[in-house]
Amino acid sequence: MAKQEDLFKNVVSHAKEYGYIFPSSEIYDGLSAVYDYAQNGVELKKNIREYWWKSMVQMHENIVGLDAAILMHPTTWKASGHVDAFNDPLIDNKDSKRRYRADVLIEDYAEKLNQKAEKEIEKASVRFGEAFNLEEFVTTNARVVEYLSKKKEILERMARSLGNEDLADVKALIEELEIADPETGSRNWTDVKQFNLMFGTKLGASAENAMDLYLRPETAQGIFVNFLNVQKSGRMKIPFGIAQTGKAFRNEIVARQFIFRMREFEQMEMQFFVKPGEEMKYYEYWKTTRLNWHLSLGLGKENYRFHDHEKLAHYANAAADIEFNFPFGFKELEGIHSRTDFDLKAHEEFSGKKMQYFDTEENKNYTPYVVETSVGLDRMFLAVFSNSLKEETLEDGSTRTVLQLPSVLAPTKAAVLPLVKKDGLPEVARKIIEELKWDFNVAYDEKDAVGRRYRRQDALGTPFCITVDHQTLEDETVTIRHRDTMKQDRVSISELKGIIENEVSMKNWLMKTKV
Ligand code: ATP
Repeated sequence: MAKQEDLFKNVVSHAKEYGYIFPSSEIYDGLSAVYDYAQNGVELKKNIREYWWKSMVQMHENIVGLDAAILMHPTTWKASGHVDAFNDPLIDNKDSKRRYRADVLIEDYAEKLNQKAEKEIEKASVRFGEAFNLEEFVTTNARVVEYLSKKKEILERMARSLGNEDLADVKALIEELEIADPETGSRNWTDVKQFNLMFGTKLGASAENAMDLYLRPETAQGIFVNFLNVQKSGRMKIPFGIAQTGKAFRNEIVARQFIFRMREFEQMEMQFFVKPGEEMKYYEYWKTTRLNWHLSLGLGKENYRFHDHEKLAHYANAAADIEFNFPFGFKELEGIHSRTDFDLKAHEEFSGKKMQYFDTEENKNYTPYVVETSVGLDRMFLAVFSNSLKEETLEDGSTRTVLQLPSVLAPTKAAVLPLVKKDGLPEVARKIIEELKWDFNVAYDEKDAVGRRYRRQDALGTPFCITVDHQTLEDETVTIRHRDTMKQDRVSISELKGIIENEVSMKNWLMKTKV
């Protein structure tokens, strides 16, 4: 655990030191759970967004984009259920005065049971080797059965109590399980209360006739209210999808995990409209497709898992999370939800406008069902960044810090370095930059010895370093050094574009999303 915490601290400090993420308004001591993306962070974030956008919109003929406003008519949030039900159950510890999400405390307890079961499974698989039968072991080993059934029982009871608004039972569960404040160990809890996560604001000049608005807590509703506008103007036929990326705001109760849980964050969402009755087919399709997208980035298959929801949101008939192994354990990265016709029906009811689709093949009107994929851009950033940060021990015993970002996402694709600051080498380096900058983000660096410059580019995550030396003046060749292997090749300047392109092109990476 201590190791994990250290790793996470390293991630936060590396992000700051190398110009990826700064605390918001830091000169005023920052604003809790709000962050700014710095010169390199903004590039990485843009590349992740583009990688998502291309895979969703450009690669799917039946998905189109949208950029709806953050401010929406307030009735939107009545219809969506956010005014009445976008709550988190909070609980305070009376001794430490710390505030927690009651559901998260219980989920963490359940996860510990899961980990105990996994430990038993791991031990047994080593003991039995080839002969190990996972299914049989999980259903017959007394300890594993107990851990897993207890976990299930706890999560089911929590889901029931939250569904019935029985907050007293949520507290009773915390007490029965003897869950303590993770920071202090105290079990002196207050009652559980509901807390609405939406930020309110006002529209209008004078206090008397100002209109109460909300900052959107999700981008999805901008898609729903525009469903017919897009369908008609784009002559879209079901099944079709609308994709959108943009800011969302939530007044999170507990926000202590850097950019994992922010109060202002960015979502990348896609709502896929289908014929009622076909939603499960598309739900499965999108679960697989989205997991493949994540896997294409090469962060390791073992770092992802699905978590099927026991407790469904008020709008869903099936829901799963893609969880990622963050430095603080497996947590939600993306949600895939079968939202039924809840949203379109609700907007129809509240607006009095028809939100139905005329199916020309069936010659009838119906309200489409919706399958949603929703991933946090900042959480994606954290997944990529934390997984890429490595401390390596080299053959000669020295260490290097390297940010092994998937090269398609790296902010800078190549750094061009003159070996020395004289003899015309800087001029040649500049010329190379002039050629490459039309296709890639490239950087120039002449400060310090070349070895130190390599290390700096490693820590920044730059996939290639191109070094101009005296031989370059004679034969127009340079060395190109690969970040991950540190291997250096001598190539001619005219080959550089092709080499870089091959490694960083979005096309090559996106091809891996197809199975
Ligand atoms: P959690 O259970 O972690 O609060 P959620 O289930 O409320 O998340 P959704 O409403 O399904 O999340 O939102 C979709 C995605 O938006 C999440 O999978 C996550 O990646 C991202 N997201 C949600 N809340 C935040 C936040 N406060 N900060 C950063 N990203 C967020």
